[in-house]
Amino acid sequence: MDIDFKKSNGLVPVVTQEFGTNEVLMLGYMNQEALNLTVETNIVHYFSRSKNRIWKKGESSGHIQKLIDLKVDCDNDTILAIVEQVGNSACHTGAKSCFFKSYLGNNQLNIIESKIANLPTKYGDFDIKAYKDGCQEHLAIMSKDFKELEIPNVRIHSECLTGDSVGSLKCDCNQQLVLALELIAKEGGLVIYHRQEGRNIGLVNKINAYNLQDQGFNTVEANIELGFKADERDYRVVKYIFEDLGLDELKLITNNPKKIQFVESCGIKIKKRTPSITKTNQYNENYLKIKKEQMGHLL
Ligand SMILES: [Zn+2]
Repeated sequence: MDIDFKKSNGLVPVVTQEFGTNEVLMLGYMNQEALNLTVETNIVHYFSRSKNRIWKKGESSGHIQKLIDLKVDCDNDTILAIVEQVGNSACHTGAKSCFFKSYLGNNQLNIIESKIANLPTKYGDFDIKAYKDGCQEHLAIMSKDFKELEIPNVRIHSECLTGDSVGSLKCDCNQQLVLALELIAKEGGLVIYHRQEGRNIGLVNKINAYNLQDQGFNTVEANIELGFKADERDYRVVKYIFEDLGLDELKLITNNPKKIQFVESCGIKIKKRTPSITKTNQYNENYLKIKKEQMGHLL
């Protein structure tokens, strides 16, 4: 795809990303000239990040809809995704995975799988397998006896770099991860490390949300202020991993009713829910309160 951005006033190339055989290009803003360009370059999918949600092809969303109505066809190797600017926070590149997933639809995940490898850890010896889903790479961490288990313990752990790696006390992520790894080391099971940082708004946006939290916003309000939903996670790749690993019954380690719903929607029986309760501290007390009161977590 050959686009001269200098000639197209108002178009801001934000990120280019390889996605399987498709090159995805996100643009920050669109005007008449950009619209003409999109027609010339045969764009099929458009996303507008307005009104706190992602608009998909075929949905009514103002001027984006006009493009959609043109119904231009794209060749198989080129897809151009347009992301509309919202206030000063143009192009939520941290959430680019959302855009990929939006255009791929339910049955068109294009996952690249790794082989299985040994991973000795301080919690126990595990097998690991990685899955590449667009620009996100996820990990399945399995106890050595995983294949023989009738009803494995399973946690879908959402990536939190600040908690998991840096030991942030602002949340309970690190403690929950450790609890789950300890449990599957002891009783057998699986931890899916689902790399949708910051409830899938990405690290830059998450830190900006933290900045807003420093100013008094809570975790939900901060995301909304940045133009996101309280929770942008998308579990489709997790379903893929479930199928790949042949899960049909499990004991789910979670406090999150959305994860319970999701697992059930995959046709998997939850034989037991194991709460993932951690110690509160002075920094995460309010965060946990909001999780409970506004996100319905079973705390
Ligand atoms: Zn966290």
